[in-house]
Amino acid sequence: MKTLVCPHCHSQVPESASVCVGCGAEVVRGLSRRQRSFVGLAFVAVAILIFGIFLRGYEIANGHPFLTSPKAEDGLLVIAGVILVVFLPYVVGINVARVFWRSRVRFFRSFQHQ
Ligand SMILES: [Zn+2]
Repeated sequence: MKTLVCPHCHSQVPESASVCVGCGAEVVRGLSRRQRSFVGLAFVAVAILIFGIFLRGYEIANGHPFLTSPKAEDGLLVIAGVILVVFLPYVVGINVARVFWRSRVRFFRSFQHQ
């Protein structure tokens, strides 16, 4: 069976283990929360870029901006746009990060044993 080496105590840990046999460090698979949100933000940035290109294309095709004179009823459209461009890509990005880097293993020691 494939084994991992704990970076804290250098014990050989079975790949299937959830804690280090030597020091009790937690074996965590996948990216950290911060790394996942970074990927999420990268997706948001790409979505904003694509959305900007879309708006520019709309303006060129129709001869006027997407929202010529913002009205009260456009508020819903703006909210939908924010969800589409910020929230959705962020959630998708986080899940892509989770699936894509699932095989990444980290040893996380939350408390000292000795
Ligand atoms: Zn260890």
